[in-house]
Amino acid sequence: MPTIEQRFKRVRSQISHAEIAANRPRGSVALLAVSKTKSAQVVADAYRLGQRHFGESYLQEALTKQQALAGYDITWHFIGPIQSNKTRAIAAHFDWVHSVDRLKIAKRLSEQRPEGRPPLNICLQVNISGESSKSGIMLAELPRLVDEVKALPNLCLRGVMAIPEPESEYQRQRQPYRQLYQAVSALGLDELDTFSFGMSGDLKAAIAEGSTLVRIGSALFGERTTAARH
Ligand SMILES: *Cc1c(COP(=O)(O)O)cnc(C)c1O
Repeated sequence: MPTIEQRFKRVRSQISHAEIAANRPRGSVALLAVSKTKSAQVVADAYRLGQRHFGESYLQEALTKQQALAGYDITWHFIGPIQSNKTRAIAAHFDWVHSVDRLKIAKRLSEQRPEGRPPLNICLQVNISGESSKSGIMLAELPRLVDEVKALPNLCLRGVMAIPEPESEYQRQRQPYRQLYQAVSALGLDELDTFSFGMSGDLKAAIAEGSTLVRIGSALFGERTTAARH
């Protein structure tokens, strides 16, 4: 079993190689360590290796971990599905939310962002695989939601997030990311600087298609064996 240090080294090197292969500047892709189902101790270990951005999907679990890690200089990203009754805690305890897929949720996050905190960084989750069961807006709805979210005072719209259907073939992995990247570019919004694309199984393809942030869980922390808690 590789150590966590070896795993971080390997993932960072995969990111660098993918940047070079895509002719992109070194350091243009950020690493978000997805620590869902992993303990506060594991997060602290990653922190000691220099990792500062962590992604969580389950609110209660994240809040418990954040309490255990109070005093650590961590930037917390919420990446899971959002129910309305969770927005207040998410607005108070996170720096980023990647999974906004309706105006109602965006409005609540803006209204509930505590006074004195900087605007909450937002990515809109887009469903690029066309699966009706999956969360995320359809591509056609993106321009309108972008306009609506940009108007909310306590949010800072940063970009888009996508979770394509699992696919093992490299060229087919690239296709949905390319489609979304082109659609966002066509909107001509220079202020959008974040493409939250890529997980453990497809980070190279995501980086080839413009990812600025990869969300990596199992490649850093091992397979998740614990049942997810919602
Ligand atoms: C769990 C999760 C990840 C990380 O997935 P891995 O395949 O373990 O790297 C990334 N993004 C989201 C939204 C997730 O829920």
